[in-house]
Amino acid sequence: MNRRRAELPWPAAVDVVARESDGWVPVPFHSFVLKVHSRCDLACQYCYMYRSHDSTWRAQPRTMEPDIVDRTAARIAEHLAAHDIHEAGVVLHGGEPLLAGEAALARTATALRAAVGSGTRLHLALQSNGARLTESWLDLLGEHGIRISVSLDGDRAANDRHRRTASGRGSHDRVAAAVRTLADGPHHALFAGLLCTVDLRNDPVRCYEHLLTYRPPMVDFLLPLGNWHTPPPGLHSGRIGTPYADWLWRVFHRWYGAPSRETRVRLLEDLMILLLGGAPETEALGLRPVRYAVVETDGSLSQDDTLRTAYTGAARTGLHVRRHSFDMLLRHPGVAARQWGVAALCETCLDCVLHPVCGGGHYVNRYRPASGFANPSVYCADLAALILRVRGRLTADIEGLRAAR
Ligand code: SF4
Repeated sequence: MNRRRAELPWPAAVDVVARESDGWVPVPFHSFVLKVHSRCDLACQYCYMYRSHDSTWRAQPRTMEPDIVDRTAARIAEHLAAHDIHEAGVVLHGGEPLLAGEAALARTATALRAAVGSGTRLHLALQSNGARLTESWLDLLGEHGIRISVSLDGDRAANDRHRRTASGRGSHDRVAAAVRTLADGPHHALFAGLLCTVDLRNDPVRCYEHLLTYRPPMVDFLLPLGNWHTPPPGLHSGRIGTPYADWLWRVFHRWYGAPSRETRVRLLEDLMILLLGGAPETEALGLRPVRYAVVETDGSLSQDDTLRTAYTGAARTGLHVRRHSFDMLLRHPGVAARQWGVAALCETCLDCVLHPVCGGGHYVNRYRPASGFANPSVYCADLAALILRVRGRLTADIEGLRAAR
């Protein structure tokens, strides 16, 4: 599994952080991540599920049973109705969700749509490693209107550094063939995008150009998970420079400088949107409140499971879909802290002029054992460098336009 953000399968609306003079008002969820299968058929080296401190996944049932699916669907419907929300998303996630099997996923999609009813536009999406994606699967996903994002880290050499089976076999060839079937066949409209985890050893432009060959509507570059206790590769103490900013800046140049738009690059688009005062699509940057909930295969209500990389049990809430509503999850302190926006930032970030854009970076990257999540991002220097470079480029372009008038 590759994805840590809940993927929002539709453009972000402008959010208003609901606040009242006497306190914080929870912002309802509009996206729900369902762990329909808790195991994976790949053993990627950076996987936050199976390679982090937290091994609580071992206690999870492999698949989400029909009664948990039905209860979850009812809870989602209850939450949307209570908050008068008529458009929402559900991401079928794992582990590897295709391991749940065609019948189970078809039943899940049907149950979800039946529960929310025809008055709600429900966007269904699936996040897959792509290794099992066949035409038969595409037919079924098409039948249920489920869009697909696939994790792929670049060409064979780049992808197979990490994305291998338990026996060490690379996954690139299988996944590339599946993505080509998706991209070039009759189901192209289901193609939501590619997710690529940055590895500093991979050439950024070559990586981006390889991904472009699949004609993805969107590419999302993910920074490797890490925190101040367990830094991401290349960010050890005493390091010099901003290697992740340099990597992404080269992608920016290639993407932004293209004569016509080749694809969306979500992280860079979010950065530009924030610089222009808009609302980003994900919570990797900015101060937008977290608006997605996670349901484990056993029905536990959970926080973003990338928190597993901080410490064991960090994502747990003690709530369960049988006994608790999503409104109760909204009031969990861990979820609330991720809706506070600027009020949740540490002093260093509050003093930083870039915080309205950076937002302290992704929450999970702020963790330090002594102070929890009240820290700048472990990517602080890289985020600042990237923001300043992109801001400089946009400013220069705007000045160029003015001068040309
Ligand atoms: S650049 Fe660093 S200090 Fe500034 S808001 Fe981001 S993480 Fe915080």
